[in-house]
Amino acid sequence: MKKTIDLRSDTVTQPTPEMREAMARAEVGDDVYGEDPTINRLEALGAEMVGKDAAVFVPTGTMGNQVSIMARANRGDEIIVESNAHIFMYEAGGPAVLSGVQIRTVPGTRGAMDPEDVKAAIREDDIHCPRTALICMENTHNRSGGCVLPLENMRAIYELAKAQGIAVHLDGARVFNAAAALGVDVKQITKFADSVQFCLSKGLCAPVGSLVAGPKDFIERARRARKVLGGGMRQAGILAAAGIVALEKMTKRLAEDHEKAKRLAQGLASVPGLDIDMSTVQTNMVLVGTKGAGMDASGFAALMERRGVLFNPSTKYKVRMVTHNDVGFDDIDEAIRRVKEALSA
Ligand SMILES: *Cc1c(COP(=O)(O)O)cnc(C)c1O
Repeated sequence: MKKTIDLRSDTVTQPTPEMREAMARAEVGDDVYGEDPTINRLEALGAEMVGKDAAVFVPTGTMGNQVSIMARANRGDEIIVESNAHIFMYEAGGPAVLSGVQIRTVPGTRGAMDPEDVKAAIREDDIHCPRTALICMENTHNRSGGCVLPLENMRAIYELAKAQGIAVHLDGARVFNAAAALGVDVKQITKFADSVQFCLSKGLCAPVGSLVAGPKDFIERARRARKVLGGGMRQAGILAAAGIVALEKMTKRLAEDHEKAKRLAQGLASVPGLDIDMSTVQTNMVLVGTKGAGMDASGFAALMERRGVLFNPSTKYKVRMVTHNDVGFDDIDEAIRRVKEALSA
């Protein structure tokens, strides 16, 4: 049996032995009472790392984004997001269901909205119009293949939002990947948002969990919104223990995943029929065009699944491959070898 190489997502990562050890030893209490010392430690650590006053632990990134919107917007408000944003594409209509807001999308280039377009999308104070309650950015940007928002772009959008008194939320599910790619402290990114959601799962390998960080009063509202959604957990310190390892240790190794993605992209770029825009290979994702190989994305994914290399279609003619802690450089080389073999057969 050939080893399966799983490049579907960094969400498939297993918790590390150190995480399992920390989970087994975690001191816990009832977190709804605020009495779980490990949760309290994780929330303080997370807030400190991203330069915010406070943080709240949530089970998923989706809940992190949704409680952030709930804490900022009223029914009938509008929120501005990039047109391929996770919040718009993949959160099951949550902003409409949970907050009663409508979404206004602004097109992006590799996830980056033009500040002029954002400015133009902000509503006037007019009884006919919804109120613009929130502007959301996403870094790294998932649908564009993990591209990193330029800091100057984030700054421009944050400054224009501040000038109009509008809050900014960062969907930073993979913000530590962005920081690693830019070679900056994550605070240099999160300072251009009032609130941020980041995942401890995904590339950081915790089994469960995200943090929402922001100003104290905002976090109190987000904590209440979390309760509304049924996300008030009890002895959740078992999960937080893994989250602490994720923040302290796993944030430091993400550059290695980015090197693996580059190696994968370079290896596949030389395969006739496959098309890769190397300029988009900035973090741990590689988008591979399949049209030239005479296949659509699902056909290519099915072909490679039979050879033990897993990845998902992203669009009709593009697949997405994601590197992570559980695939080594040797697995990357083996995946390239199997693709070459499959396409020359
Ligand atoms: C994964 C992801 C989320 C949601 O996180 P879940 O834990 O899967 O709910 C939100 N935003 C972005 C950009 C993501 O990639």
